[in-house]
Amino acid sequence: MSDYDVVVIGAGPAGYVAAIRAAQLGQKTAVVDKQWLGGVCLNVGCIPSKALLRNADVAHTLRERGKEFGFTMENLKLDFTVAVKRSRQVSDRLTKGVGFLMRKHKIDVHMGEAKITAKDTISVKDSEGRTTELKTKNIVIATGANAAVPSGWKVDGEKILTYLEAILQEKLPKSVIVIGSGAIGVEFSTIWKSYGVDVTIVEMLPRLLPLEDEEVSTELSKKKASRCWLGTGWNPWRPRAKGCKSKSPRRREKRLSKRTKHWSRSGWYRTAKGWAWKSWAYSCQSTASSRSTNAWRRTSLGYGRSVM
Ligand SMILES: Cc1cc2nc3c(=O)[nH]c(=O)nc-3n(C[C@H](O)[C@H](O)[C@H](O)COP(=O)(O)OP(=O)(O)OC[C@H]3O[C@@H](n4cnc5c(N)ncnc54)[C@H](O)[C@@H]3O)c2cc1C
Repeated sequence: MSDYDVVVIGAGPAGYVAAIRAAQLGQKTAVVDKQWLGGVCLNVGCIPSKALLRNADVAHTLRERGKEFGFTMENLKLDFTVAVKRSRQVSDRLTKGVGFLMRKHKIDVHMGEAKITAKDTISVKDSEGRTTELKTKNIVIATGANAAVPSGWKVDGEKILTYLEAILQEKLPKSVIVIGSGAIGVEFSTIWKSYGVDVTIVEMLPRLLPLEDEEVSTELSKKKASRCWLGTGWNPWRPRAKGCKSKSPRRREKRLSKRTKHWSRSGWYRTAKGWAWKSWAYSCQSTASSRSTNAWRRTSLGYGRSVM
């Protein structure tokens, strides 16, 4: 049993920084993590993805713009295994840095799964099943987030991957569909595309990087290559109704109009010229009229936009 002023659960960027600050303020501090120091970001997120993006940048330059830069290669070979190994090395180096920071600030590190058993008690179960009890005056919960997997889908590491399997795998897929064009989806698409994988992005909102400024999406959409289905309104979290596979146009229209209702969206959006009221193409279509369905089709299926 150890007594602390502060115990932080989770040693990701939120947790280890909180622990350092608490220690700097004179608190006796411990950090608990069930897996690794540095959390998702340093181990399987921001850092290795940026290392892979650097590789992707070089690969893209050599493959697509070699002549322009003065490189001529008869037999260019790109080894993705080496890229992944390099990303692991970068990641390891930085996680070791977090260990150093913990020691420097005299923060105890407990590796194991934390469970809050009372308002001042945390039990930590390590990988060998041993349990340690930590007594503490304050608890900081910094346990991060998990990948949301659509219901009914099973991540098997082969056909269906989350970011975790994707960032660790050394082999490249021949083709891939990336669901979601947020930062992470676009990063993986860029990496794979640069290595010659056939990438298709599916995004339910009308533009790439829908949470960023519109100008950013516009710029990205100008780039060459992969297919991108925008504004599909496809909600993978909604279980597919029986018969969804049917190619019958009537059923399809019915289905589309239902989704239209669900995903209608309009509002004030910032544009290059200031604020403007916008209704996304599918936002005003709540009935199954052919006009609305066609409009939907124009938005959702008609544009195979080029990205990356
Ligand atoms: C591919 C990818 C690229 C990304 N790129 C960027 C980027 O460029 N820029 C950016 O800002 N963000 C990026 N992110 C997001 C970033 O990784 C997260 O925002 C960040 O890791 C969140 O930090 P956190 O400390 O809140 O949680 P996490 O990093 O998830 O850390 C939580 C920690 O808590 C531990 N934990 C959970 N439950 C328990 C428990 N019961 N007991 C003990 N420990 C527990 C976990 O093991 C984990 O180590 C990226 C993410 C991914 C997946």
